[in-house]
Amino acid sequence: MRVLVIGAGIGGLCLAQGLRRAGIDVRVYEREESAEARYQGFRIGIGGLGLEALRECLPPRLHPVLEASTGEISGERPMVDEQLREIRQLGAMHGGTATDRHVLRHLLMAGLADRIEFGKRFVRYTELEDGTVRAEFADGTGATGDLLVGADGGNSPVRRQLLPDAEVVTIDGNGVLGRTPLTERFAGLVPGFGTVVNGPGTRMLLGKMEFRRPPHLAAAELAPDVELPETGSYLRWAAFLPDPAGPRPADWEGVRDLLLAHMAGWHPDLVELVRQSDVVNSSVLTVRYAKPVPHWGTGPVTLLGDAVHVMPPSGGMGANTAFRDAALLCRELAAVRRGEAGLRTAVERYEREMLEYGFAAVAQSLEQLPTFAPSSWTVGAR
Ligand SMILES: Cc1cc2nc3c(=O)[nH]c(=O)nc-3n(C[C@H](O)[C@H](O)[C@H](O)COP(=O)(O)OP(=O)(O)OC[C@H]3O[C@@H](n4cnc5c(N)ncnc54)[C@H](O)[C@@H]3O)c2cc1C
Repeated sequence: MRVLVIGAGIGGLCLAQGLRRAGIDVRVYEREESAEARYQGFRIGIGGLGLEALRECLPPRLHPVLEASTGEISGERPMVDEQLREIRQLGAMHGGTATDRHVLRHLLMAGLADRIEFGKRFVRYTELEDGTVRAEFADGTGATGDLLVGADGGNSPVRRQLLPDAEVVTIDGNGVLGRTPLTERFAGLVPGFGTVVNGPGTRMLLGKMEFRRPPHLAAAELAPDVELPETGSYLRWAAFLPDPAGPRPADWEGVRDLLLAHMAGWHPDLVELVRQSDVVNSSVLTVRYAKPVPHWGTGPVTLLGDAVHVMPPSGGMGANTAFRDAALLCRELAAVRRGEAGLRTAVERYEREMLEYGFAAVAQSLEQLPTFAPSSWTVGAR
């Protein structure tokens, strides 16, 4: 059995790790030219079933590296005003792990060098008469397998071909996502799990990515064959400009400058946090969510992660759900490899379960959107 995975994001790579552990032939195709080609480095909180699933897929020898190259995410969630005066507490959260997406992606590539091909932009697939599927790439090459998994993110071209009527809604709003090196001055802004700044007309969400150990050093000591990026601890912040209909600069600096103009008179620590952000690792933030889709009738093509159930980051569940998908699909395909199930039956079981918890997570994330967005903000599609 050969599995083709489209997309080397954290979901597709987690699947590839799990399949390799299960002794299944897997190939991953990524459109980007390299793992460094694009901004990837925001903080992702993982925990519960998502963390368990990630550990299930990752070889045990890499678990200590995962532990050392992540941080704690736990404690109170104060809501403060723009002068950092406490308004109320949103309730403590415990037991989470803060990961950096760029570091995690590198960890998830460990040992897969001969299975991942970069510079392969998927354009279409064809179901062949013998039940296999052929993927075609923009460079004119192709690959054939027994199962093709679209793990190609919220804009998934695999989903667009498989489910042309599936709807993904983009929520109006000028979002900005920033990352600022962690200094003593800024550490106090996030005393616990995270801080919500409820300023006039906009909200900012602050989170801390404080690595237990510098990831590159942790890897060098615990698994010398694994190379993790050299990256420092930081505060991650996200904000939306109050006027969704206002100017919409395409570049990050443009949105940041609009935000800074809006923050005149705010507490100097907050203004400096935005001013000192690291341009390379910050980006414009687009929030999308997928509308539920019914089961589509199993074939040799399926979907995983944001490709099927992209959701707003408000619930902190997108990556956790993608890891659940990866572990579940691995378990099902491992049963096929052992001769305990047919491929179509196993994939259908995966799809039905995944659609249920995946879209429940989308709904939960949408419910939590008001904490994330300014109170004046209306959720609308564009
Ligand atoms: C600001 C922010 C904060 C978040 N915080 C959290 C959090 O705290 N907890 C949490 O669980 N989730 C969080 N998420 C969600 C999480 O980042 C996503 O759910 C997760 O990255 C999805 O992984 P994926 O592999 O499905 O998709 P992606 O990470 O989008 O990966 C898709 C990959 O497919 C590739 N690709 C796309 N098109 C093609 C093509 N045509 N051919 C080949 N390759 C292609 C892309 O280049 C990419 O590498 C957050 C998201 C954001 C934006």
